[in-house]
Amino acid sequence: MRPPKEPTFRESVDMMFNRAVALMDLSPGLEEKIRVCNSTYTVRFGVRLRGQIFTFTGYRSNHSEHMEPVKGGIRYALSVDQDEVEALSALMTFKCALVEAPFGGSKGGLCIDPTQWEVHELEQITRRFAFELIKRDLIHPSQNVPAPDMGTGEREMAWIADQYARMNTTDINAKACVTGKPLNAGGIAGRVEATGRGVQYALREFFRHPEDIAKAGLKGTLDGKKVIVQGLGNVGYHAAKFLSEEDGCKIIGIIERDGALFDENGIDVENVRQWIIKHGGVSGYPDAAHHAEGAAVMEEACDILIPAAMEGVINMGNADRIKAPLIIEAANGPVTAGADDILRKKGTVIIPDMYANAGGVTVSYFEWVKNLSHIRFGRMQRRQEEARHELIVKELERLDHYLGDKWSMTPDFKEKYLRGAGELELVRSGLDDTMRIAYQSMREVWHGREDVDDLRTAAYLVSISKVAASYQAKGL
Ligand code: GLU
Repeated sequence: MRPPKEPTFRESVDMMFNRAVALMDLSPGLEEKIRVCNSTYTVRFGVRLRGQIFTFTGYRSNHSEHMEPVKGGIRYALSVDQDEVEALSALMTFKCALVEAPFGGSKGGLCIDPTQWEVHELEQITRRFAFELIKRDLIHPSQNVPAPDMGTGEREMAWIADQYARMNTTDINAKACVTGKPLNAGGIAGRVEATGRGVQYALREFFRHPEDIAKAGLKGTLDGKKVIVQGLGNVGYHAAKFLSEEDGCKIIGIIERDGALFDENGIDVENVRQWIIKHGGVSGYPDAAHHAEGAAVMEEACDILIPAAMEGVINMGNADRIKAPLIIEAANGPVTAGADDILRKKGTVIIPDMYANAGGVTVSYFEWVKNLSHIRFGRMQRRQEEARHELIVKELERLDHYLGDKWSMTPDFKEKYLRGAGELELVRSGLDDTMRIAYQSMREVWHGREDVDDLRTAAYLVSISKVAASYQAKGL
């Protein structure tokens, strides 16, 4: 039987957007203005490699400039096309609005399989792509600030930052032209883990609300919950690692390109990650059963399913077989609009992408602010904070001495309390706060409006109202 016809990724995002705006009272025309992508630039450039010229196709799409700069990653994958970058840049607009990162939405991509090129070749290609975007202000600290996405990371961001600096030698804010840079090239502590960390904070916040847990038909805390993660790249790896090491979750399934691992008793995420780095996939991993038909493992019974790789992996072809009562979209667009309908009817609770994976852009925001302020977070206040804490510890020590064995300080209190927060602690605290506040704003709509029965629609309502308010303030 042929699978039912799915809309494209961009159509799918539009359908979800339309479902939400139907419940709003926007002024005529504003709805369309917010939905459409403002511009998409396509560039085809040639790079001389291996004795011949190769032509590459790249994109940068700006969905909404209601706030500037616009923000969003650059993806390197063979799936990259105009439809995909436009869908992703729309999601960036709503994501930034939801977590109050002061940016419009953008996304870029290069149609390339990065595994087919040597590092020095990738550098040449990246610099050339960056050159094309920089000369049109499509990479610029105050106009358009890219970041990593699938297939790119710190290394590519460092090349882009350097390319921008070479072309703008007197720009004192040059480093703020891109985020996700390595620490020694103007990056920020905690950016690499940020999206996965955000997924963890999102789940912790969800599990703080018994009513919400009950909606998913679950009970208790994160401790002992069975989790299946699809994609052990940067996002899936960090989410699975933190949830298993810090919250007591059991990772029972890991799905990768070359099949899936499954073990009811839990899989060691760190070991699998090291195996993948060494062997290029999960095949042959000795401590869990290997299933060649990876996608089928998404359909196994579990408490939480984390799609953390590509768009469209949960679609009209498999949605009715997905057993997880709670799905958290660590990837962008992993559930198609058609699948979303099926799952909603089944009562599956979906924590939507624009919220669930917003940790990355949130910490990118902190990095951008750090670059513009030219100072590391915590540099001014850390020692002063420690000195003030020391005053209290001294007083407690006096009390400790005075009370003899009636009372004494908890053994590690002094050490923990004395330590002032460094950049990493501050970044995590800012991220945690952001994820909690954004969840509560969605939750209020989810529980507060009779016509809203899912978190995705609630998330769209919150973010579209913010974008609309910002357009209205501009007199549109
Ligand atoms: N590519 C990431 C995303 O989809 C991060 C974007 C950013 O940090 O600007 O959210």
